Amino acid sequence: MEVYNTYSKYLQERYGEKVYKLPIKLPITCPNRDGTLSKGGCTFCGEEGGSFENLPDCMSVKDQIGKNMLYIRERYKAKKFIAYFQNFSNTYMTLEDFKEYIKDAIVDDVVAISISTRPDCINDKYLKFLVEIKNNMGIDIIIELGLQSVNYHSLIKINRGHTLAEFIDAVIRIKAHDLRVCTHLILNLPWDDMRDVIENAKIISALGIDEVKLHSLYIIENTSMAEQFKNGEIDIISKEEYIHRVITFLEYLDPGIIIQRIMGRAPEEKSIFVNWSESWWKIRDEIVSIMEKENRQQGKKFDYLNGKALKNF
Ligand code: SF4
Repeated sequence: MEVYNTYSKYLQERYGEKVYKLPIKLPITCPNRDGTLSKGGCTFCGEEGGSFENLPDCMSVKDQIGKNMLYIRERYKAKKFIAYFQNFSNTYMTLEDFKEYIKDAIVDDVVAISISTRPDCINDKYLKFLVEIKNNMGIDIIIELGLQSVNYHSLIKINRGHTLAEFIDAVIRIKAHDLRVCTHLILNLPWDDMRDVIENAKIISALGIDEVKLHSLYIIENTSMAEQFKNGEIDIISKEEYIHRVITFLEYLDPGIIIQRIMGRAPEEKSIFVNWSESWWKIRDEIVSIMEKENRQQGKKFDYLNGKALKNF
């Protein structure tokens, strides 16, 4: 049995075979960068806005999908794909533009569309349209919401520009429309400790989030966080402590939640700190090996919802 609910296993069960994500980069921005909320963006966010291995945004959605699909088909004999709108805030545009981009991603062998955005950049009109796509085209829809931490003090420190409340509202709306929701979290923000890690797991579980993507904090050149790091204003916890946090997070998490990933990936040449200079997959393997050895499991401590204190009454 796997120590946590892996994404690959979920995809295999849902679609009957391996499914590959096709990253799409749009010529867009985010309200936390264009001056609407702030000009600086989140303090860790680089110029790429969360993507670094994409095709140029001047290419059309269809061309990006076509080119990536061809490559992955040939290399891995892949047959099914998820179109993944990855960079910046992919609902931060007019509803008309959004509809066109989404429709362009509906091509043969695309079984799902994944849309990355901010919790304060989604509303019922966009969700209603996505429900129509899901029902009429038979394509799964996943909204990937950046949150990073449930600690709203930390959200101010990283200049997120929204609080926990907007995230909760977005999740309730997405779930009410019967769409899937994934949440991105960083378990080692410099201001967070183990209590925040556990509260992350509890709130994600209580809200019925479907999927989680964990990023270990990386520090990219020319960001505010890089300045703080160089000036000694922030520290990064050790790899061992990060591993301890990930395992604890998984233990408190609802065992039904799918884990898309437990380590972040960043371009080494543009970063001043990435994964303690180790490969992300080596650290992932270390986490799995410790969990197996110590008999630890996702959901082992998931015993706190639905009035648990009243269980003997
Ligand atoms: S919301 Fe996303 S794209 Fe915008 S600044 Fe923050 S991390 Fe970057």
